Amino acid sequence: MSAFVLQAPAQASVPVVGSSARFPVHRIYCIGRNYAEHAKEMGHAPDKGDPIFFMKPADAVVTDGRAARFASATGNLHFEVELVVALGDGGRDVPIESALDLVYGYAVGIDLTRRDLQTAAKNRGAPWDTAKGFDDSAPISAIVPSAGRHPQSESLRLSVNGEVKQFTSVADMLWSVPEIIVELSRLYELQAGDLIFTGTPAGVGPLLPSDLVSCELEHWATLELRFG
Ligand code: MN
Repeated sequence: MSAFVLQAPAQASVPVVGSSARFPVHRIYCIGRNYAEHAKEMGHAPDKGDPIFFMKPADAVVTDGRAARFASATGNLHFEVELVVALGDGGRDVPIESALDLVYGYAVGIDLTRRDLQTAAKNRGAPWDTAKGFDDSAPISAIVPSAGRHPQSESLRLSVNGEVKQFTSVADMLWSVPEIIVELSRLYELQAGDLIFTGTPAGVGPLLPSDLVSCELEHWATLELRFG
């Protein structure tokens, strides 16, 4: 093993329910407009279209109850609750029949978004990176190992200060988890350690630094987020 000229960055990781060992994060993939009602509220056609993928840096994860740093350079930080898929195996051009074999487990996460910068980027035809891939932009619960089970019609819920803002069944996703894995594996070589944020339902809205955010993927995982 080579020496480095600097201290190597820490490996980003997520706790795993029932284990003292942690899930090492390789990449964070995200899909946009994956629920028809959310596409509509953002002013887009509620059809499947081509998948819209973007990424966040691996070290954007916020875990273990740590307070997130409230995003700089935005006047409109939005919450987006999402089912998160954690991959335990990878591959290229994955066939649909074996896509779920790659899944290690599931979590609930928040795709924090600088909505004002995203709107400006859309209007200019510019990339979404600064709107999506910033520091502490991916709060996530502990990962629950799949053990052969997969969410089907569980509800996804997000509350701000006790008031429910988002509540939908994951059965309403336009691109299913196996379909997302297939499409991503045509574009990238997927690897063990990849996380996939699978899109948010309707009801997104702004956050304040004082807000307490609670999320639940029914029967699987809960997440509390505060800023500090
Ligand atoms: Mn999202």
